[in-house]
Amino acid sequence: MRSDELPLSRAVVDRSAHLRDEQTLRELLTRDSTRVVLVRDGRVPVDPAGAVVLTTVDDARAAADDPSPDRWLLLGVDDERGYVALRAARGGDETAGLPREGSQSDRWVHTPASTATGGAGADAPGPGSTSQVRGGLAADGTRWASLRTVGATLPARDAGLVTTAVALDEWHERHPRCPRCGAPTRVTHAGWVRTCTEDGSEHYPRTDPAVIMAVVDEHDRLLLAHASAWAAGRYSTLAGFVEPGESLEHAVRREVAEETGVVVGPVSYAGSQPWPFPASLMVAFVGRALTSEVRVDGVEVELARWFTRDELAAAVVGGQVVPPSTSSIARALIEDWFGGPLPAATAQF
Ligand SMILES: [Zn+2]
Repeated sequence: MRSDELPLSRAVVDRSAHLRDEQTLRELLTRDSTRVVLVRDGRVPVDPAGAVVLTTVDDARAAADDPSPDRWLLLGVDDERGYVALRAARGGDETAGLPREGSQSDRWVHTPASTATGGAGADAPGPGSTSQVRGGLAADGTRWASLRTVGATLPARDAGLVTTAVALDEWHERHPRCPRCGAPTRVTHAGWVRTCTEDGSEHYPRTDPAVIMAVVDEHDRLLLAHASAWAAGRYSTLAGFVEPGESLEHAVRREVAEETGVVVGPVSYAGSQPWPFPASLMVAFVGRALTSEVRVDGVEVELARWFTRDELAAAVVGGQVVPPSTSSIARALIEDWFGGPLPAATAQF
């Protein structure tokens, strides 16, 4: 797999770390060209065509009822404009915090400047399409949609912006206090640091590495598992968090042994993808199995078995196996082994 083609790994906007200060952020918020990703609990506003709705700063302010300055995050800058995120308050009903009908968005979409990105098909999801501010937003069918659901169909620019916005929002939500002294922290460095109000210590966004692996045996069969927490029929590759003091390769072998009893020998790197639900970086590997007997732990993993390509194709078509979502690196690992896209299911189960 190519890491820069994975759905959530396709960021193209420069992250502009050198611009992460309060003055630059304030200045960007005065520009008409600046675009805002509204983010709320892992979700972003998506129009009926599946495109992320990027708003002007004024529209974002109106949608969030004039939010406090510490809810803005600098995402990056490209040749045309700056991109920021606004962390919408969580809770409320399903339309809370969405851009409102009759706001600046309605007029912006009709200005001459917008015709360059308008036109038939401009909102179609997929590579090369262009998201834009649209009129009649909430009433137009705009809704909060999870990055997990829409990540694979967003154009690269938007997928990258939204992934970073969701990851930062999740971190801020979970780190209101200083881990040293317990005092409240405040947002600094344009949303990239939280600084303790008592001892001044600075705390940076965290990312937790997790390994995910395609384990293949001597007959070139793939090991897939069904976790007890999943819906019936869902199968995926094995995965787990890296423990303190552990290498990635060790984590691969330990997780596979714990969950299935299979012994893994050589391990090779395959790619990585951020997975901000809430804070993972998925690091993918291919592991060569030295044994083939499967003994599941029965707690985390309920079922695990080897599949040939023909067996997997038949099980997916027949609905006995539901593969992981197209946004996930698990899907990419499986399709790498399979040799192309998995077939679609034809039967309901
Ligand atoms: Zn402190």
